[in-house]
Amino acid sequence: MGLAALTRTLTTGPAYANETADAAIGTLALSDDAWKTRLTPEQYAVLRKEGTEPPLTSALVNEHRVGIFACVACALPLFPSSFKFDSGTGWPSFFDALPGHVQTKTDYKLIAPRTEYHCARCGGHHGHLFKDGPAPTGLRYCNNGAVLTFMPKEG
Ligand SMILES: [Zn+2]
Repeated sequence: MGLAALTRTLTTGPAYANETADAAIGTLALSDDAWKTRLTPEQYAVLRKEGTEPPLTSALVNEHRVGIFACVACALPLFPSSFKFDSGTGWPSFFDALPGHVQTKTDYKLIAPRTEYHCARCGGHHGHLFKDGPAPTGLRYCNNGAVLTFMPKEG
């Protein structure tokens, strides 16, 4: 293996093998104007204004290949496909997230408080966390598909 190839292997590694360390996540902080330029209007509404896409609008609801679902704004991997399940809600749903890759806070937009979660790197809102998911966690991360990008596993 040449030096260039070796360096590439060391810095990028296998597709998503070691995505757990906080230090590797880093932060991506941009101005509101910069986000507007960088994101589509739909992505901006969800990520920066905590909007919610209509159900059944995302092709990712029916994405069943092996791979990783990442934040569309900053490419941080959030959910491996092995965490995905069919919730019947019309939104891509996961029973767990990669450790440290999403953060939660309580939102009071509806009468009953809900737990909002967002990308740990860019702070973009992704969806809400419910406690009616399947085993082994009993959790349901209900994610807007418009703000996820799917990266199929190669090979
Ligand atoms: Zn992000």
